[in-house]
Amino acid sequence: MRCGRSSDRVGQRGAGQFLVARAARRSMAVMSKTERSPDTPRETSALVGPLDWRRLVQWLADDGVISAAEAERTVARCSAAQSAQPPLQRLSVVGMVRESDGATLSLDALSEWLAGHLGLPFVRIDPLKVDVGRVAEAMSAQYAERHKVLPVQVGPAEVVVATSEPGLTDWVPEVERQTRRTVRLVVANPLDIKRYTGEFYALAKSVRAAVKAGGGPQASFEQLVELGRSNRTLDANDQGVVQVVDWLWQYAFDQRASDIHLEPRREQGVIRFRIDGVLHPVYQLPVTVLAAMTARIKLLGRMDVVEKRRPQDGRIKTKNPRGDEVEMRLSTLPTAFGEKMVMRIFDPDTTVKNLDALGFSAHDARRWEALVKRPHGIVLVTGPTGSGKTTTLYSTLKRLATEEVNVNTIEDPIEMIEPAFNQTQVQVHLDFDFAQGLRALMRQDPDILMVGEIRDLATADMAVQAALTGHLVFSTLHTNDAPSAIMRLMELGVAPYLINATVLGVLGQRLVRTLCPLCKVPDTEASRAALDEVIKPWQASGNYSPYKAVGCIDCRMTGFKGRMGLYELMVTTEAFKDKVNREPSMDALRRQAVTDGMRPLRVAGALKVAEGLTTLDEVLACTPPLH
Ligand SMILES: [Zn+2]
Repeated sequence: MRCGRSSDRVGQRGAGQFLVARAARRSMAVMSKTERSPDTPRETSALVGPLDWRRLVQWLADDGVISAAEAERTVARCSAAQSAQPPLQRLSVVGMVRESDGATLSLDALSEWLAGHLGLPFVRIDPLKVDVGRVAEAMSAQYAERHKVLPVQVGPAEVVVATSEPGLTDWVPEVERQTRRTVRLVVANPLDIKRYTGEFYALAKSVRAAVKAGGGPQASFEQLVELGRSNRTLDANDQGVVQVVDWLWQYAFDQRASDIHLEPRREQGVIRFRIDGVLHPVYQLPVTVLAAMTARIKLLGRMDVVEKRRPQDGRIKTKNPRGDEVEMRLSTLPTAFGEKMVMRIFDPDTTVKNLDALGFSAHDARRWEALVKRPHGIVLVTGPTGSGKTTTLYSTLKRLATEEVNVNTIEDPIEMIEPAFNQTQVQVHLDFDFAQGLRALMRQDPDILMVGEIRDLATADMAVQAALTGHLVFSTLHTNDAPSAIMRLMELGVAPYLINATVLGVLGQRLVRTLCPLCKVPDTEASRAALDEVIKPWQASGNYSPYKAVGCIDCRMTGFKGRMGLYELMVTTEAFKDKVNREPSMDALRRQAVTDGMRPLRVAGALKVAEGLTTLDEVLACTPPLH
């Protein structure tokens, strides 16, 4: 067994080890704040046997984490009452105050401190990084529960086991013999160990049950079809597949995923989550189980379960752990190795936000508000797919949709059901497209109309007609920036005078990742001059406090958490309209837009960098260069 001495940590950063290695780095970083390095040999701290709260309090005081007075107070309080709670939990509820910053010592902080004190790595268990199937094979659920440990990683030569009782190691030789691997101990929050022991073993059991019940894709698949036909209630207790699907959704919500991918490959089924725009592999499982999961999800999404050769769409409403309704849009696609399923998650919290939360600067929020309060005309939002256009439109429409106003949308597809709108979906196979839809909506006594996208002249013409007859029309265009929208409309064949008569303004937008607030640090090497250089001739005036990405368990070591919009808002003033003619110059349009108050995307990004919300690299990657 290798445990206890910090030198063991060196050389454990090979591939596949980073979960533990980075946690070790993290705990070292934290320890360095408390003066004493975990690398110092500590004969006095050798721990054999169960933890004891008196001893822990003594160590906390020795390490200078709490003051002598605080130690005395804690001992007095804990001695006064009997408690069956394990020592770390017991100490976490008395609310000891940390000497250095006055913060209350949480269970997490105590676990991390204990790890450092004993020279062991501290690990925050990340369910997405744990191969549940392999880990569950390392020991039985009963064994793990009895010893209050949880295997978190199984490598070719060692198995990493999380414990909250590092002094209890009598089980180690047995596990080493059984797994034919060396046991490496790491310390984790005892409540996390308890929670994930339950979840991991339940999940592993569900997958095993699904594999067994299936025997092949056909069997489990037929079974599910049968259940759907007979309308029998699915029993979550004996249905492995049902549990795996439930687990999948819970984790996706926990991890703030925007999309879930179920991908059949030649050998394995792969599950990936998209988080803040980046895909993360989550789990691999037998293709048969993946097929059964896809069938179950199709069933819930009221899709044709038998049809696997044609792409299908569907939607599901479910609840997240907080009890909020979450809407998911499903789509399937036949691929070489089976049916691929993608679920897009529309979290009600993230979908409709106020302008500030979306990332609007005060300057643009004011101008946007004024624009969308106009009684009629066309307001366009532009940007590539996945730049947050729909979120901006929904958030804006939501605030305009009062009892006195009829808001109608025609979308392809309806991304999010919003009770305040009348929403219609394009049905191409019925010849019901955007232009047809708009024509129909016009007979519905509308005030405000939203057309998913303008991509042909027929739709553009209808939008113009609607605006000319006194309606406010919102839509999107696929262009790189706001001024290009005018050119795009002309390319479609809309006459310049009609553009001038109807288009009120164009909002160009992008999404950039925001720095994780928990781990970002001031970027002392960044200079204001470098920032000004990329936005010449603009200058980032005002506060300048850039931060850089570090990475912690909370942000999956990416250094970023969540995304926000960057916006450029072009308002069509009289001077601007003068420049929209038969042969408009892109340059002239851009210059006029800027004169009228537009801050280009890259400049908007630079301001976010100066505020320390994102990084310059992130902005440069997401925004077009200045002209
Ligand atoms: Zn972080």
